[in-house]
Amino acid sequence: MKVQVDQNLCQGHTICSMVAPEVFHLKDEDGHAYAIEGDVPTEFEAAAHEAVFSCPERAIREMSEHAVQET
Ligand code: SF4
Repeated sequence: MKVQVDQNLCQGHTICSMVAPEVFHLKDEDGHAYAIEGDVPTEFEAAAHEAVFSCPERAIREMSEHAVQET
């Protein structure tokens, strides 16, 4: 999965970076969040998913490029 923060919606609540600090970082300039580039490492996917639902602005988009494969 990949995640992306819509900069027009993000209000800098920092919730995402508290829920998933390995995935979301805050910009020094405006305090808005941005997500790591590329695929979220598997071990952080659950936290990233939680951050998507925790964002009060619904600013985080989750993109699944491949079907989730259960092992
Ligand atoms: S929780 Fe949402 S609004 Fe807050 S910093 Fe993260 S993406 Fe932005």
